[in-house]
Amino acid sequence: MFRLKEVVVTLDEFEAMRLVDMDGLYQDKAADKMRVSRQTLGRIVESARRKVAKALVAGMAIKLEGGNIEMENGEMRSFLCSACKNGWGIPYGTGRPEKCPKCGSLDFRRHPNERGFGRGFRGGRGSGSGKCRRLAIAGGKS
Ligand SMILES: [Zn+2]
Repeated sequence: MFRLKEVVVTLDEFEAMRLVDMDGLYQDKAADKMRVSRQTLGRIVESARRKVAKALVAGMAIKLEGGNIEMENGEMRSFLCSACKNGWGIPYGTGRPEKCPKCGSLDFRRHPNERGFGRGFRGGRGSGSGKCRRLAIAGGKS
């Protein structure tokens, strides 16, 4: 396999784009989550979009600063209900659910089998663990 050229996307850019473009948040809300100003958020998203567009058009791989990413859908936080044993997942960035979607119980916790990546990811610069992150954009196996 030949080695793809890469564009480097920072964690901030990745997170901003995910919040705005994937989760469909308004920019001021996304800015809130990332604890940056709306202007900053807008700049970050724009930069991210440009990079991703470039990658798509030029057939380049997208590299997340702090670690390589494989394109795969795995961006979920998992919860487990103690009452009905229902397990469910929600995308990162949407906050903790209020209750079990199945039985409505408030007695639930993070799923013990959840994969550990993503922890420490939110909250801005320098918090990346360097672990692999997975994007859901394309199936590109290089
Ligand atoms: Zn339940």
